[in-house]
Parts: sequence; structure tokens; C-alpha cells
Amino acid sequence: MNTATETRPFEAEVAQVLRLVTHSLYSHREIFLRELVSNASDACDKLRFEAIGKAELLGDDAELHIDIEYDKGAKTVSVRDNGIGMNRDEVVANLGSIASSGTRRFLETLSGEQQADARLIGQFGVGFYSAFVVADKVTVLSRRAGAAEGEGVRWESDGKGEYSLAAEDIATRGTSVILHLKDDDAEFLDGWKLRDLIRKYSDHVAFPIRMLKQKDGKLTDEWETVNDASALWAKNKSEISDDEYKAFYKSLGHDFNDPLAWAHNRVEGSQRFTTLLYIPAQPPFDLMMGARDERKGVKLYIKRVFIMDAAEELLPNYLRFMRGVVDADDLPLNVSREILQHNRQVERIKGSCVKRVLDLIEKLASGEPEKFDTFRKAFGNTLKEGIVEDPSNRERIAKLLRYASTKGEGAEQNVSLDDYVGRMQPGQDAIWYVTADSYKAAAGSPQLEAFRAKGIEVLLMFDRVDEWIMGQFGEYEGKSFRNVAKGELPLDAADKQKQEAAAKEAEPLVKKLKDLLGDRVADVRVSARLTDSPSCLALSDYELAPHLARLLREAGQDVPESKPTLEINPAHALVKRVESGADEAKAKDLALLLLEQAEITAGAALPDPAAFVQRMNRLLAT
Ligand code: ADP
Ligand code: MG
Repeated sequence: MNTATETRPFEAEVAQVLRLVTHSLYSHREIFLRELVSNASDACDKLRFEAIGKAELLGDDAELHIDIEYDKGAKTVSVRDNGIGMNRDEVVANLGSIASSGTRRFLETLSGEQQADARLIGQFGVGFYSAFVVADKVTVLSRRAGAAEGEGVRWESDGKGEYSLAAEDIATRGTSVILHLKDDDAEFLDGWKLRDLIRKYSDHVAFPIRMLKQKDGKLTDEWETVNDASALWAKNKSEISDDEYKAFYKSLGHDFNDPLAWAHNRVEGSQRFTTLLYIPAQPPFDLMMGARDERKGVKLYIKRVFIMDAAEELLPNYLRFMRGVVDADDLPLNVSREILQHNRQVERIKGSCVKRVLDLIEKLASGEPEKFDTFRKAFGNTLKEGIVEDPSNRERIAKLLRYASTKGEGAEQNVSLDDYVGRMQPGQDAIWYVTADSYKAAAGSPQLEAFRAKGIEVLLMFDRVDEWIMGQFGEYEGKSFRNVAKGELPLDAADKQKQEAAAKEAEPLVKKLKDLLGDRVADVRVSARLTDSPSCLALSDYELAPHLARLLREAGQDVPESKPTLEINPAHALVKRVESGADEAKAKDLALLLLEQAEITAGAALPDPAAFVQRMNRLLAT
């Protein structure tokens, strides 16, 4: 046996995570136990799964369990499992480095604010390293299932920057994590305290968590199971308390906080399965990372056997904030991800999950306004994507969306499409909206002026996905959606007449502006949208909103240049000055200013800001 001990530095990122975890988690230090138990339980799950095709891995040690011991004299607490174990390479990869690209980005999002960071860690579950919150030295002994006694590994670290690695004979399969507690954390050297924590955080871990029985204040050598050790979702709803649902949510990892709501359903019939799905109270960490990252959070079990994290197979992207468990009775245990992706039974389970989630959100919307508020603030923008992603549920999703509005309460996004439709003016046949990159920009759009004057409500949208979603929304309750900046405004007969007269009268002015602006514009015309502002941009139906074109270009995308159409308000003093005999140079400055201020309010990037400022100054100085 190779007895040499090797010392290695942690990857820089691990050192950073360790520092952060030990500093910001101290007030939650008891969760170390939950994290280590959760890893032990994962290890048992993995072994049970591998053993489906390879029963010899279990050998004569087929009862998977997790044992927790403490030693007052040595000041240690240890968590041992007879699960999958790790070989040397796995120990190095899993405990010495940070493998997932998600973790790297997690590190980039850290703010240095301890409070906020602690929450992130909770959602991210940098589990194993939480051991160093209570321990000044951690020893891990591990032997991979299927490996020989001499192929064990000892890993040890004080969590400061290095760890040591050595080969070691280990008699049985699995992993022991031994915590050498800091003096301040001696409270955990107590059988009742540990039992309490296990019941609080890990009661429904599906494997027995065992501790040695105590008698007359002394430890015996007899093991007893401390947790409930049954799969919570397999029980009857009526036998489960709210506290148990909440505790189980937390045991799934990735969130310290109580969930917002949950739905637990058993489907019987030709296909049988159970779903227990939770809405978190805050956006989970990976939600911030956008839709394209690997998704986690919904575990697939088949007849109580954990198969894999199958969030992508079991829920559509727009419900990626959900967490929970799906247990199917009728799928083969050796199912692969590829099979899951093309399996009709899985399709049906997915459809049922979507239905349950929408039911749950509808229940919040109709009966629990405060919770629904929390929901829409956290996940409203994600849910919106369902309009495009899931046309078969479009009506239901649309009813759950909320927007800011010219008749709403400031930036608060709480106006439903039903509110809007209920307030439509007689004869109004479209749902009007405007998109911009902030609430202020949306609410300040000059295109809203005519709508305000007529008392027509306009939805104010300022999320990046809005433009894309609205382009595909089609209609709601038979009403089409229309962008106030696009196309012609529908005018009644009297307005039309007025508009035509105004256009006729302004013909020479429009011609002059076209000449002055030359190829900076596609067209100039008299606006029906403006009452107070001198000018605005008008877009064709298929044109990208200027703020979005700018954002996309800034993100390095190739957006075709398109020339704007300028709309003017001939009644405005500034517009009149273009006509009123100003000299040619000044008229040109004024014309460009009309265009550029329209571009600025639309969120476009000015092609030449310096020239714009010079023009302004020339005009202000005369
Ligand atoms: P996570 O559990 O979210 O993957 P952790 O930091 O808790 O992150 O654990 C890191 C990795 O270390 C795990 O993914 C697993 O591969 C490995 N690991 C930790 N504890 C055990 C254990 N008891 N048995 C086997 N592998 C383990
Ligand atoms: Mg873990």
C-alpha cells in the first residue's frame, strides 16, 4: 500500500467559497448536518441506481443507511454512509475543485454583502464545505463501491487553503466524514441535539439515519433509526403536516427558506405517478442564469428509487423555478435521459405537472393575494415565456400575467389582462401596450400622449422578453395586442378628418424636414399620437423596438440597420420654428434635434452624441 501523503492546494475558487461559507453561514451553522446527510443520501441513491444492473456492488451489505456518531473526548461528529463512495480521482474532483460552470458564475455574482451572499449559498447548496463552519479539521475516508479494501482514500483539510491526500485501507464501502469541532461548537457533541436536528432537517431522507442508543447517559453499541426514513411524497396527504412539507422542501437542498406553496398529487389509472412540486419564495440561484443553463430541481424517482435530476424532461422551461419530486410507477428503472426525452409516458407526466403548477398558481391568484404578489414579483417574468413556449396553455398563462399600466399604480406590475379588458373604452378593439427598457422610459413614451388624452389605457412593459413575447401573443379574449409605437392608429371618422387636414396643411413643412434630414430617416409624417411632445418615432409592424435593437447590439448581436420614421406634432412651438423663416443652418439643427430627441426617448443609441450636444448648444446660445 502506498503510504505517502500528498498535500495539494485547493483550487482558487474553492478557497473563495470556503472563506465565504465559513463567514456568512455561522448564524445557520447547524445546517452542516443536513448538508452532509444529504450528500450521504445522494451517495446511497447513486449506489442503488448503479446496482440495478450490477447487484454485486451491494455485496452482503445491501441495506443502505447513514450512521451518525459523536465522541465527546475526541470532539468529533461523524457522518458515515455505505453508499457509492469515491475513488482518489473523484475525491480530488469533488472535494478539491469546483467542477460545474454554474459554480464559477455563482462566484461571479457574489456581491461581498454577507447577508445577500448567505442567501445565495443557501440556494446554491455549496454543501460539503459547510462542514468547515463548525469544524477546524475535516477528515474524509472513502472507498468506492466495487473497489478493493486497499483502494481507500483519506482526505484531510483545515479548510484554509490546502488538503492532504493519502491511500488507506478501508474495510467497507462508502464514505465517512469526520468533523473535528471547533471549541465553540461543542454543543453538537450531544445525542439529543443531533437527533433533534436530524428530525428537523432530514426526517424524510429515504434511508435510515441511525445513531447509537443511549442508556443511563452512556452510549450503547446498539443502533437505532432516528428519522422517519420514508419517502414523504408516498404518504397520504392527510398524514402530512405543513411543517413536514416545509422540512422536506428544505431537505431537497438549495434553499434555507420555507417554500411559498406546494402541490402534492397522486395520479391513478392507466399510468400511475406521484408529484410533489414546490414554488420557492425567492428565485432560486440558477434562475438568474437564464434558460440555457442545465436545469436542476425536479428529481425523478421510479418506484421510490432515485433515477436522476430530470427538471428539463419533467417541466417546461418557463416553469424552471419549480422544485420537487416526481415518482413514476410504470417507467423502467434502467431508463436513460435519451429515452426520457422521447417517452410518451414522460410527456404525459410532464403535461400533468404543468397542469398542477398552473392550478397552484391560479389558486394563489384567486385566494392568496399576498402570496401571489410574492410569486409574480419573483417569477412573473419567467412565467411570461410560457406564452411563446406553451401555446396549448396560453389562455391560462395569460390570465396569470400582470403588467404596469397607465391606469395602474406606478411601476407596480399588478394589472391583469382581465382588468384591462374590463376597462376598455366602447368601440376599443385592441389591447394597447408600449415596450421600453425601464418603467420610466415606458411611462414617458411620447406615443402615449394621444392615448392619455382619449382615456385609453396602455400597458407599460419594460422587461427584455416583452417585445419578443408580445410579437407572438396574437390575441386575448378576441382582442388583438397593439404596440402604440407601431403602425397607424385607428382613428374615428372625426379624428381622421382632423388628421388629414393637419397633414395637408403641414405638407410644406414635412417636405422641408425630409429635405433637411435626408437619409437619416425613412419618412417624415404628421403624428396622430402626439399632443405635447414635438416628435416621436413610429415603427412598422415588424420593426424591432429601438431600445431592444440597442441592447442586442450591445450584446454583440448583428441587428440590421433600419431607418426610422419620424412623426411630428405641427402644433408644437419647436416644430413651428423649423418653418418660421429660420436660416437654413438653424433649421437643419432644429430638424436633427427633433429626430434625435425622438430617438433618445425611444431608447435608441445616438449615432453621434458629440454632434448632438454641439447642436443643442448652438441652439441654446442663439
Ligand atoms: P452537491 O451535493 O450539491 O453536489 P456538495 O458540496 O455537497 O455538492 O458535494 C460535492 C460532491 O462531493 C458531491 O456532488 C459528490 O460527488 C461528492 N460527495 C460528497 N459527499 C459524498 C458522499 N458521502 N459520498 C459520495 N460522494 C460524496
Ligand atoms: Mg450536497
